[in-house]
Amino acid sequence: MERFLSFERAHIASMSGYTPGEQPSDARVIKLNTNENPYPPSPAVAEALKQFDARVLRKYPEPSSRDLRRSIAARLGIEDREVLLTNGGDELLRLVFTTFCEPGSWILSTAPTYSLYPVLAELQACQWKSLPLEQGYSLPGGLAGEAARLQASLVLIVNPHAPTGCLFTLGELSKLAARVPGVLLIDEAYVDFVDPDNGYNSLKLIAQHPNVLILRTFSKGYSLAGLRLGFGLGRASLIEPMATKVRDSFNLDALAQSIGLAAWEDELYAKETTGAVRQGRSRLTQGLRDLGFQLPDSQTNFVYARPPGDFSALAMYESLKSAGILVRYFEDGNDRLRISVGTEDENQGLLKVCEQILTSDAR
Ligand SMILES: *Cc1c(COP(=O)(O)O)cnc(C)c1O
Repeated sequence: MERFLSFERAHIASMSGYTPGEQPSDARVIKLNTNENPYPPSPAVAEALKQFDARVLRKYPEPSSRDLRRSIAARLGIEDREVLLTNGGDELLRLVFTTFCEPGSWILSTAPTYSLYPVLAELQACQWKSLPLEQGYSLPGGLAGEAARLQASLVLIVNPHAPTGCLFTLGELSKLAARVPGVLLIDEAYVDFVDPDNGYNSLKLIAQHPNVLILRTFSKGYSLAGLRLGFGLGRASLIEPMATKVRDSFNLDALAQSIGLAAWEDELYAKETTGAVRQGRSRLTQGLRDLGFQLPDSQTNFVYARPPGDFSALAMYESLKSAGILVRYFEDGNDRLRISVGTEDENQGLLKVCEQILTSDAR
């Protein structure tokens, strides 16, 4: 009976979709599970909201997010047509799949990786393959060769990497770009948290390689996950087909354009809050290591940690949850927790509860 009631295309009916991280309604929960920025958005955002004239909403918004696009291009030293504003970074990912990936073609990434990617590949009826990171969380040695062999239409690399938090070098990415036959998408959702001493600047890759697309977002570094605002950077030959043919004409509403501009132009505030997150990150890393957790140095606003001894990550996740602290547990066989960097109080609270759990339940 059931199948007569379903109007879904067969391959949509057979897939399960993406499961976003929990958003608990209890405000007392210490929420360290979805990598939101623990600090509020810039005061310029609150001011732009207050000043926003509701009458503007009568009309359709400027279709190309012109002012914000110009401001981003000007600061980054690239052309306006090399920037595409999207409804969250996730919309950019959708546009990339629809524009560059023939159904049936191969999509490659690392394992682990951002778990939305294989879902988007399935939606586009593409073939999916992920290669495990090497020891020390470096790029899979065989990735470029496999991309060439399978004529991959798209290779997706999160950098700094999620969920490990590690940063791949520009040299490695440049070598990969030269051998990938299709598009190389570098997902820089967490780039605002990279230590400035690293001198990491992937815009050079756009100048060198016609197939490199970069994803950025206001969700993490600019504390605006609730606004849904992201952007893509790349040569006009990559940006323009998405901008002129594939995206919705009015993909960004007037409010997002106006608030986004206020946030972007308060560069100093974003630098202060991302700097505070970096400081919290190093104290959290040290605190967890002092308790016996194993974790690599992170260049993001989260850490990827294994509990000490044979204490399982799942048991730790559950004990933290009953104590009102939410972190992310991955069922990927690596037995790790992904813990977002919170405010100093939240981080210290987490460390204290971890210590209690480990001492009360020493197994
Ligand atoms: C957060 C995130 C994004 C984009 O998120 P949006 O909120 O849609 O901008 C993209 N990739 C990764 C790996 C992320 O963590």
